[in-house]
Amino acid sequence: KTFNSLELSRPVLKGLAALGYSKPSPIQSATIPIALLGKDIIAGAVTGSGKTAAYMIPVIERLLYKPTKVAATRVIVLTPTRELAIQVGDVGKKIGKFVNNLSFGLAVGGLNLRQQEQDLKQRPDIVIATPGRIIDHLRNSPSFNVDNVEILIVDEADRMLEEGFQKELTEILDILPTKRQTLLFSATMNSKIKSLIQLSLKKPVRIMI
Ligand code: AMP
Repeated sequence: KTFNSLELSRPVLKGLAALGYSKPSPIQSATIPIALLGKDIIAGAVTGSGKTAAYMIPVIERLLYKPTKVAATRVIVLTPTRELAIQVGDVGKKIGKFVNNLSFGLAVGGLNLRQQEQDLKQRPDIVIATPGRIIDHLRNSPSFNVDNVEILIVDEADRMLEEGFQKELTEILDILPTKRQTLLFSATMNSKIKSLIQLSLKKPVRIMI
């Protein structure tokens, strides 16, 4: 299989070529076509499998399917740590390098809150966040608008729960529009993750590689 056979747009194919990705990894081959259809997905994927691109590629494609005239935050990616959030942002920017007007924002701890508030006010298309900090913005930054969020990614869900973010996750899920696509990635499954899945996903397709 090639990325070409996944029917991706030219700018995304260009971004992948520039990154040196020549063919999709197994998790990417399995996830991308289903995610492009707008379905919810639970993916069992560890770090190193190529899981970041497995969701970034379809996310960017789906934004391109339906361009908006005004700036709006349409995707939220939740990660357990700020390091992972920054990494995910870097991968996303590289994949989307040749896509016009694609913007990314960060909502993570350890970075200046006011600056972040200013960035989020611009309504970046894709906001990558850690649970604690995004809650902070949702509660205290009236200019951070999530009414147009169409896709939620929960990356490393197991680690997020291990870090004790269950309450934050529930609060975030309560605020986000319910009509959305949700993709959840986790290296392991247990009862806590199963209840998170029940809370956040609709008729998910399960992909275990
Ligand atoms: P991840 O699991 O997302 O942390 O990715 C693990 C590593 O694999 C990263 O260094 C990626 O840059 C790399 N990678 C992801 N997808 C591909 C691909 N299709 N071809 C080559 N390298 C890839």
